[in-house]
Amino acid sequence: MHIAIVGAGASGLMAACRLADAGEVVTVFERNSDVGKKLAITGKGRCNLTNNADIPTVLSNIPQNGRFLYGALNNFPPRAVMDYFENALGLPLKTERGNRVFPQSDRAKDVVKVLENRLLSSGSRIVHEKVTGLEKQVDGGFLLFGNGRTHRADRVLLAAGGCSYPLTGSDGLGYKLARQMGHRIVAPKPSLVPLECRGTLCQALQGLSLKNVSVKVCRTGDGEKVYEDFGELLFTHFGLSGPVILSASAHMRDMAADRYEVHIDLKPALDAQTLDNRLKEDFKKYINRDFSNALSDLLPSKMIPVAVSLSGIEPHRKVNEIRKEERRRLGTLLKNLTFKVKGFRPIEEAIVTAGGVDVKEVNPRTMESKLVEGLFFAGEILDVDAYTGGFNLQIAFSTAALAAKAMVRP
Ligand SMILES: Cc1cc2nc3c(=O)[nH]c(=O)nc-3n(C[C@H](O)[C@H](O)[C@H](O)COP(=O)(O)OP(=O)(O)OC[C@H]3O[C@@H](n4cnc5c(N)ncnc54)[C@H](O)[C@@H]3O)c2cc1C
Repeated sequence: MHIAIVGAGASGLMAACRLADAGEVVTVFERNSDVGKKLAITGKGRCNLTNNADIPTVLSNIPQNGRFLYGALNNFPPRAVMDYFENALGLPLKTERGNRVFPQSDRAKDVVKVLENRLLSSGSRIVHEKVTGLEKQVDGGFLLFGNGRTHRADRVLLAAGGCSYPLTGSDGLGYKLARQMGHRIVAPKPSLVPLECRGTLCQALQGLSLKNVSVKVCRTGDGEKVYEDFGELLFTHFGLSGPVILSASAHMRDMAADRYEVHIDLKPALDAQTLDNRLKEDFKKYINRDFSNALSDLLPSKMIPVAVSLSGIEPHRKVNEIRKEERRRLGTLLKNLTFKVKGFRPIEEAIVTAGGVDVKEVNPRTMESKLVEGLFFAGEILDVDAYTGGFNLQIAFSTAALAAKAMVRP
């Protein structure tokens, strides 16, 4: 039997390794000259390859079509992924805050390397070619077209990824191949993506990175809270970015202009009264200074002109002239800096793609197409996506392992 895998990313490489373990020699088509280009930049180059959590916890981190993944996760749960990397592939791992799992070397490239080594040691081939067309033959096999050449396969795994970070090779071409096989594609949308915000505030703060701020996202109309967490945030020329914002974006499922507001608490460790006491102390210390020169102990320098302007207190007023209500208003402002969200940044800047091959047309027990016998799917090409924490790679590995298991069945 000849198996072809389209895409040597996280899921394609894992599927090839699992097939190799089952004694299959496969052909992997990869359009780039390197394999695992996206995998090599994951986790800021450290690769958060899974989350050492139980299956219910993993599922609670998958907002879209989690139930579809139940079989795949049970077949190859996080513990099995870790065991596979450590014991079968020889890559020592470590678990960090939030159960995030990384290679001990802190090098994502090592994750790519061990997968590639296993694949090549089995005699499987990597063909560096872009697959541009897929056709089902009357004899049940497939034809794959690329670079003017045609390849035959008995079974095909589409592991071509989504369409975010297209320079890594996943630019949505996999969707075209799935469509050629009659599959419906749920409109791709960005997830884990920076936010464009209204107003000029973010621009004024551009380049400022704040650690340990609290971020709350609410719907504009009813004020319903959709997300709240602490973390690191970055102001950019277009709006907000940084880890806590990327995570927040995955909870903004029905994005539209002005549908959400982001509330930032710059001083989450201080309640309103404690912050007011702190302001009182600073104002006492700098009693003869101008207001704009009295906030340097509390705020980063880039934030000061913005806070001063929003407070409505004249920058050159002496601190001893500031009234209690004005000081309190300033405290309230620092605990609730509000930004109206215009929308997501383009999908090219998203960490993952939400949307993709409609899972209703894929068998959750095998990852095989319900429409075309012998056609399988794995990874981000499917309409599944997760929050940050290693869950997206876990999905890629689990779906790949399940597809590999099913592909070798007679
Ligand atoms: C910057 C960044 C950081 C991330 N960090 C993490 C993290 O730390 N933890 C985590 O869990 N997730 C992370 N992710 C998400 C994770 O990388 C993806 O979910 C995962 O790589 C998806 O795997 P995949 O195999 O489905 O797709 P990909 O890894 O995108 O692989 C698809 C492959 O298919 C190839 N290909 C596409 N079309 C064709 C074709 N027609 N012919 C031949 N080859 C083709 C592509 O070149 C590519 O190599 C991160 C993503 C980004 C962008």
